[in-house]
Amino acid sequence: MSKTLFINANLVLDGPAELRKGFEVVVDGSRIASASSSGPLPREGASVIDVSGCTLMPGLIDAHAHITGLSISPRNADRPASEIANAAADYLRASLMDGFTSIREAGGADHSIARRLASGEIIGPRLFYSGRALTQTGGGADFRTGDETEEPCGGTGPFSVMSVIADGVDQVRRAAREELRRGASQIKMFASGGVVFPSEAHATRYEYSMEEMRAIVEEARARGTYVMAHAYSDEAVRRCLAAGVRSIEHANFITEGTVEMMARHGAYLDPTFISLVQRIESAPETGLAPSIVENLRATVEKGRRVYEWARQYRVPIALGTDLWGLEAQRSQLRELEIRSEFDNPANIVASATRTNAELLNQVGSLGVVSEGAFADLLVVDGDPLQDIGVLTNPENNLKLIMKDGIIYKNDL
Ligand SMILES: [Zn+2]
Repeated sequence: MSKTLFINANLVLDGPAELRKGFEVVVDGSRIASASSSGPLPREGASVIDVSGCTLMPGLIDAHAHITGLSISPRNADRPASEIANAAADYLRASLMDGFTSIREAGGADHSIARRLASGEIIGPRLFYSGRALTQTGGGADFRTGDETEEPCGGTGPFSVMSVIADGVDQVRRAAREELRRGASQIKMFASGGVVFPSEAHATRYEYSMEEMRAIVEEARARGTYVMAHAYSDEAVRRCLAAGVRSIEHANFITEGTVEMMARHGAYLDPTFISLVQRIESAPETGLAPSIVENLRATVEKGRRVYEWARQYRVPIALGTDLWGLEAQRSQLRELEIRSEFDNPANIVASATRTNAELLNQVGSLGVVSEGAFADLLVVDGDPLQDIGVLTNPENNLKLIMKDGIIYKNDL
């Protein structure tokens, strides 16, 4: 097993994010063997990397990614599976090279992609996949047109299937069990409509009955995991909380009272500003109607209020992006930049590392530089706790990427 010793490191430590100087960190195989500031560590058999003047920090985690999109539209039904598999591989590679060492996939990726990653056939972040997202007939991830009555994406291969339609307690139970059987890390469920999808004409206030949601949560818990729910509206989020959903995605339209309720339930807020911003910016090319663009702008503004309330009520804030397609991936790091307009860099770094690790049930393993954690590390030029730009310009500032003890980039 290979050993790496980082010397003269400024470290982003666990706890209140602060920079500490003069650390040595030993990586043995895929794990951090020790991180210490009390004098030199033994160097035998280790390759020594001097990171003087740079910051050593945990790799970034994206808690809401989609890697199987070919374009900004989640509808892949008419594209060949091979194309989608290639797109997923490209997305994963680009994401890792931007400094994301883990991503939670929110619908689309499955065991076959995870297998290719594990075998080293493709490279990318650790993949916490949801498999297919559960959606009801006419729900937020039912992408059929009015002329289509069969299941969407049917027969076009495993990669194209972002969602599965399941109605009624028996069907949702079965669908959840099926994804868990195939190794899903968590279950993704649609609890309200989207904000840009075609079904907007008859947007739902909420989706799924309480019985259906409770059944999905029960199945996830049976496997020691949890449910993440796409939910924009206030009513949808309240119902999710009552049903035991742990990870609330988006939540742009919720009230202060509901944020307080999230705090009481110990739920996580996973805002995804960049996906909205990126859709606004690309509207001229994608031909998005001006009314939808206006709606998106208002949605971003509302999300900012929710974010402030979440800070106020101490709801843990995750960091997600929700981007579709390789072109959009280029904006993955911009989620950090957008948040710096209304939050400080230390909080943003904490969301992308420690909080996301907690959300993924990886406390002590991910999101920290400490003994026993996976060696998912970045070396950046500058102090990301003072200047978020240190992370958002990987070409200039990201000097080293290590995942699972393996170095993918070293410009030192
Ligand atoms: Zn999503």
